[in-house]
Order: sequence, then structure tokens, then C-alpha cells
Amino acid sequence: MMENKNNFVKEITNIEEDFAKWYTDIVIKAELADYTDTKGCIAIKPYGYEIWENIQKYADSKFKEAGVKNVYMPVLIPESLLNKEKDHIEGFAPEVAWVTIGGQEELEEKLCIRPTSETMFSTMFSKWVTSWRDLPIITNQWCNVLRWEKETRPFLRSREFLWQEGHTVHETSKEAEELTLKMLDVYKDVIENLLAIPVLQGNKTEKEKFSGAVNTYTVETLTRDGRALQSGTSHYFGQNFTKPFDIKFQNREGKEEYAYQTSWGISTRLIGAVIMTHGDNRGLKLPPKVAPIQVVIVPIAGHKEGVLEKANSLFTELNKNFRVHIDNRDNYSTGYKFNDWEMRGVPIRIEIGPRDIENGVLTLTRRDTLEKKEVKMENAEKEIESLLAQIQQNMFNECNERLKERTTVAATMDEFIKNINENQGYIKAMWCGDVACEDKIKEETGAHSRCIPFNEEHISDKCVCCGKEAKYMVVWGRQY
Ligand SMILES: [Zn+2]
Repeated sequence: MMENKNNFVKEITNIEEDFAKWYTDIVIKAELADYTDTKGCIAIKPYGYEIWENIQKYADSKFKEAGVKNVYMPVLIPESLLNKEKDHIEGFAPEVAWVTIGGQEELEEKLCIRPTSETMFSTMFSKWVTSWRDLPIITNQWCNVLRWEKETRPFLRSREFLWQEGHTVHETSKEAEELTLKMLDVYKDVIENLLAIPVLQGNKTEKEKFSGAVNTYTVETLTRDGRALQSGTSHYFGQNFTKPFDIKFQNREGKEEYAYQTSWGISTRLIGAVIMTHGDNRGLKLPPKVAPIQVVIVPIAGHKEGVLEKANSLFTELNKNFRVHIDNRDNYSTGYKFNDWEMRGVPIRIEIGPRDIENGVLTLTRRDTLEKKEVKMENAEKEIESLLAQIQQNMFNECNERLKERTTVAATMDEFIKNINENQGYIKAMWCGDVACEDKIKEETGAHSRCIPFNEEHISDKCVCCGKEAKYMVVWGRQY
């Protein structure tokens, strides 16, 4: 940590020059995560893990308000279970890792390390459901999953990652579909209100939907460099799993019927979204609600009489209501400390020195705007509370502005290509519904369909690609 003390911020790659390199610099230098000897898998360090814990706490409380119960399922799934739903196994086969030996013996049936747990939940639901009285079952598990990705990037795409996967089973299709959308709204709440990132909600196209789903709904976010990030998905399965897994129940008329299912998930990818959406050339910028440290106290001239005592008593006082850290390191200059905490994205920095103590004031510096404010010591708590709320709101507003600036409309392919090259972001364009056009657009522009948004607009009558009659308005974008 001591190297290049004076050039601290310069050690981070310029965000405009190389966004991808800037991103990994932040991950490593802000000590969110580190590379490991296991290829494609990261070690999440305390500062990164606390962000995840704050996401978990918030999301879990919202799940519980929605009647969700947490459970835990095995990490290993027998091959025969995975093979039961055809589309599902076809979709996941390329990225599944298998266990073939247990101890020293070859297994009779190989076991996959869960890439997702629809099959495991389904086989359990078939045991647990016999009558309509057993329904609905609304469960979730917080766990890890493994997908054999070829190209990986910390938090955004790791072979092993942490997530929650909700799995539910219902009496009617209507109830299941409502639950699917309800959980999508929980994700919107988490991402917008906790992470201060505006989302786009909509339907995935047939090509982009989850393997085995009837319908996949998504919440999409846009990074600072104008790339789309799928940040949470909620799937309606209809009876696609309940039939092969034999999840039957006796309905209210006494007849046997297959149940209706859903699943939904958010993951540690959200940490990547926070970094990529809010960060700048000074480093990480954390929304107060999710920041592991909301306020850092930096004593100035700590060797002078009374400074540390006052700083410590301020810490004790503030620590009752905020997540506070006091930087008592005596082997670093004040300038270094300021840079360091800016780089780590702490929303408010408090400077307290001999003169402040004499005048009964504190200097608060916001990470988002770098504005300084002198406040009376006795008002510190109120001022911090209101400043944190302002920062949270300001960070959301700033992203929302960028989102608007980076959303454009295209009626022709020429416009599409021009827009995405000159102002990378979301492109709204009409589509005929044919997968051939979706593929062609991807080939020519590098953009995938993000979703058919809930509030569809009518841009023109014709598909942007083939010129035939348009069926949907789709939002397109290059992705991470
Ligand atoms: Zn078309």
C-alpha cells in the first residue's frame, strides 16, 4: 500500500482511455476482490463482501415481506435430474462442471455442480405438493453456483458466483405470473433504491430468455461507458418443469392438475454494476445505503493535544447511527488518506483538526460532488443524515440523466449503427419478431436485444432490420 504515495490516483487507469482496465484496477485497489489460483474464480475481500451483505440484508427483508421462506438445497445434482427438462439441459450443458469421482471411486451416476437449481427444487416440490392446500410454496436460497465461463471478469462473470435463487410453485398460472412480476419489482426496488441505479424493466425475447422458461422478465442497467448489464431476471415457467418433474396436485374440484412454477435471481454481479455505473477517475463511488463505510473520520494533526480524543469521541457518537470508520494510521500523510478514501468510494469524509476543535466545527466532504461543508459539531449527526440522503438521491439522478443522454431511437440500420458508434447506449428500434433479424442486428452492430420494455413506444411500422411489419419495440445494447 505504500508504493507511489504521491501518485496514488494516477495508478488507476483513466476511465476514458480503457474502461475495462479501469474496472479491474478499482476491484483490486479498492480491495473488493482478488484473483486466486482457481482459474476464473475470485476471492471476495471484506470490503467487497460487506457490499454483498448489505445487498443481501435489503433484498432478504423485501423477500420476507413478500412471504418468501429461505431454504437450502444440495450443491450437487444428479445427471438424470438435470436431463429431465430438454431446453434447460440444452441451454446449460456447455457450462456445466461435473463430479465423476467420489473419494477414489468412479461414481455410478455423475453429479453436476449446480449452475442453477430448478431441477433440484422441482424434484423436491414433487414430493411436497399433493393438494391445492400445499400451495403456494414460495422459497429462496442464498448460495453459490458454478458456470464454466470461458472469459471471466471479477463480479461480472465469474465461474463461481454468489446469488439468491427464488423458486416457487403455484395453483394457477395467474398467481405464478403475478409472483414473477412481483419479484421483478423487488429487484427494481433493490437496484434503484439501494444501489441508486435506474433500471429498465421488460420481457426478454424468445432467443434471450432463460432455458426452459415460458417468459423471462429482466431488469437491465446501463454502465458509465454505455454498455448494458442484465442485473436481475425473473422467469415464469408455466408447466414446463412441473410436467417432466411430475409436480401434481389435487385441485379444489378434486381433479389432478400440474402446478405452475417460477424462479428469479440476483447475484454478486450487482457489485460490478455499482462499480461500473457510479465510479469515476478517482475510483469507486458508493451509494450511502450500500456503502460498508458511510462516513470516514480523518483526524488532522493527530499528534496535537486533544485531537485524537475528540476524533474518537465523535466516532463513538456517530457509530451509533452510521457505519463509521476512523483513520488513525500514523504512517500516511493526510493527502494520501484523502485520496485513499475517495478511491474506496466512502460517501462522506470528516476532517477534524485543532482549529476545528477550537471553533467547534467539522468539515464534511462529499464523495459524489467533492463539495465541502463546514458544520457545527453539535449538529453533526443531523447534517450527516441529511447529506447521506442527498448523496443517495444525487447519485441516482446523475445516472438517470446519463441514461437519458445515452438512449436514442433508430428507424433504419444506418441510424442504428451511427447511434451506437457515436453514443453507445440503449437503442430503441422496432422489430418484426424474427430471430434472423435479431441475429443480423447483433452481427452488424454488436448489440443484443435487451428487452421489450413494459412501456413500449411506437417508433415506426417497420422492422429496423428487414423493413417488414414490426411487432415490438425492442431496446438494444452492447453488453458485458
Ligand atoms: Zn425484421
